[in-house]
Amino acid sequence: PLRFSKFFQDIFADMNPNTLVLPVQSNMRILVTGGAGFIGSHLVDKLMENEKNEVTVVDNYFTGSKDNLRKWIGHPRFELIRHDVTEPLLIEVDQIYHLACPASPIFYKYNPVKTIKTNVIGTLNMLGLAKRVGARILLTSTSEVYGDPLIHPQPETYWGNVNPIGVRSCYDEGKRVAETLMFDYHRQHGIEIRIARIFNTYGPRMNIDDGRVVSNFIAQALRGESLTVQKPGTQTRSFCYVSDMVDGLIRLMEGENTGPINIGNPGEFTMLELAETVKELINPEVEIKMVENTPDDPRQRKPDIAKAKELLGWEPKVKLREGLPLMEEDFRLRLGVTKKI
Ligand code: NAD
Ligand code: UDP
Ligand code: UDP
Repeated sequence: PLRFSKFFQDIFADMNPNTLVLPVQSNMRILVTGGAGFIGSHLVDKLMENEKNEVTVVDNYFTGSKDNLRKWIGHPRFELIRHDVTEPLLIEVDQIYHLACPASPIFYKYNPVKTIKTNVIGTLNMLGLAKRVGARILLTSTSEVYGDPLIHPQPETYWGNVNPIGVRSCYDEGKRVAETLMFDYHRQHGIEIRIARIFNTYGPRMNIDDGRVVSNFIAQALRGESLTVQKPGTQTRSFCYVSDMVDGLIRLMEGENTGPINIGNPGEFTMLELAETVKELINPEVEIKMVENTPDDPRQRKPDIAKAKELLGWEPKVKLREGLPLMEEDFRLRLGVTKKI
């Protein structure tokens, strides 16, 4: 049965309740910063499936693209704003998924000062916004906060092994400060926070030439070029398919735990194994060649996801061998390479 509050009973005492327009529960207004990027656009797709959600994306298009959101442009529950998070933002929202930050090493190293400003000033601004409007805010932090880890696999309790003055520091130290800001706003101002520590994620819509290993190998295999394994090739990563990642992020936002919580796929592969898998699945004719690496490359990385399992009831479903072909399809379309029959 419909229940009127005392307030509405008084106001509408003389009216026939059957003709009243009732104040329905309003929609959830969700801001996604960095929503034109790889993970952000998949998150937007998922959030838009819920008709109670109104989604606003804020992005400066540094590494993202409107194309990733084309199916939502013009939709009444969707809004896209070109804006740089290092500048203040005045809007009204209930939840903030704060993703804005270049994630690929070649892009975050391109203008390291801008990267650290995005991480520090950008996160400060989003926290200021969360504080003003009383929104809950989720930060997409990274496994890079563990640096070149001395503990394996990495639990959230590990404090990390990070070079503070290296070429990756704008990103990994930037994210560490962002996490600190989140907890300080939480403790000092009572802001509701969520922190996800994301491990390497892959899937459709990754920038084709963004330099990350999975996108590099798939593009190389499709173009018939050698797969460039950076030395020594025995370094490991754990790759999470993007739909699993989005599911984990939404569970974290909707749950009761601040985190930090690792979200990633614990399946661990050396870069040589990854190259061999891509070769086998996509183009057995390509060669694998060893090339020079970049400084401070972590030697191993694998998430301990016990906390995500216990607190979010989450674990990844898509195995690497299942996810790679889904990404291949998208790369074929974008590169214009058709499948041999
Ligand atoms: P992405 O580069 O595809 O997306 C980042 C988006 O942020 C882009 O659309 C970009 O234009 C936007 N952006 C960058 N700087 C901005 C600024 N100053 N103002 C407004 N917008 C800005 O990267 P992604 O892979 O989708 O990563 C999303 C988030 O997840 C990032 O915070 C990243 O650090 C984190 N993360 C990703 C991975 C991964 O493997 N993809 C791993 C760990 C953490
Ligand atoms: N801020 C913002 N949007 C808001 C509220 C604040 O972008 O709706 C920015 C604000 O410009 C400031 C930052 O968030 O740079 C931190 O805000 P806070 O109110 O916590 O700190 P103060 O403004 O007092 O320094
Ligand atoms: N890598 C590689 N070949 C490439 C690109 C990257 O072997 O063409 C390696 C890189 O040295 C690192 C791993 O792949 O050990 C993951 O690199 P990526 O840039 O994808 O992500 P990171 O985890 O370093 O942020």
